[in-house]
Amino acid sequence: METLLKADLHCHSFFSDGALTPEELIDRAVAAHIDLFALTDHDTVLGVKRLKKAAQHKPIQVINGVELSVRWKLHDIHMVGLNVDINRPELTSLLELQNKKREWRARQMAELLEFTGIQSFYQKACDFAGHDRITRSHLAGVLLKEGIVSNLQVAFSRYLSRGKLAYVPTSWINIEEAVSCIVKSGGIAVIAHPYKYKLTRSKLNALIEAFKEAGGEAIEVVSGDIQVTQMGELAGLCQRFDLLASTGSDYHNDQYSRIKLGQQRRLPLQCRPIWEKWG
Ligand code: AMP
Ligand code: MN
Ligand code: MN
Ligand code: MN
Repeated sequence: METLLKADLHCHSFFSDGALTPEELIDRAVAAHIDLFALTDHDTVLGVKRLKKAAQHKPIQVINGVELSVRWKLHDIHMVGLNVDINRPELTSLLELQNKKREWRARQMAELLEFTGIQSFYQKACDFAGHDRITRSHLAGVLLKEGIVSNLQVAFSRYLSRGKLAYVPTSWINIEEAVSCIVKSGGIAVIAHPYKYKLTRSKLNALIEAFKEAGGEAIEVVSGDIQVTQMGELAGLCQRFDLLASTGSDYHNDQYSRIKLGQQRRLPLQCRPIWEKWG
């Protein structure tokens, strides 16, 4: 029965860098026959209450979620927290701290980006986002809108990725802080999209070891449009490190997300799905 369950445990709303409201996400998720669904906005749970309300009396179960930004050995790692109690003061204060850092970084990056000739870049990013939880996607959006780049990929490869012109390193929380907060909030910590960080095999192993040491229990074996061979490798890491497997589309919007809600591949059969934990 469990393997037949359709889950999407990673996506974004307009409270971070997604395009849709929580209500629109639920409509889409129900239409896609998703049984188990989580919204995992960047360092915020502002959309979760609306998501749960919209899911009432619908054939879909919502799991509380968040995607935390983490600093590990000069890498920006994303950690999903699933089934967290969003009212825990530990979580609230951690998210407040993260968003202060996020604002600081956005202002710094925006200032650097003004060399392109765009004035009031930070304000433009807030207008573009509709809020002040500015991610690099929003900065990329402004560069595109103002005609500085021809597509978002170029915005990242030229300006926003690590080491590029407008990249500003941020002292995000570390792995231990992230995992401990998720666990204290009653949730399970998940390493998001492990292949996005371009780590060598030994570094990825070291990341997983540090994560496990801190109390982390799962990795995303399926994320977005991941290749089958990579899925197989991640399933192998689950077995080797005794980890649960999570899955998510990482859907942001129709324009740029190649995988829509619930359209990601199924978890390999040998994986133990994270929802085993929730009965
Ligand atoms: P931030 O949390 O502010 O560092 O922003 C990270 C977000 O930027 C990710 O969640 C993606 O939505 C987006 N992003 C990161 N790298 C790329 C890329 N190379 N191309 C397009 N979007 C990206
Ligand atoms: Mn994003
Ligand atoms: Mn991410
Ligand atoms: Mn994400």
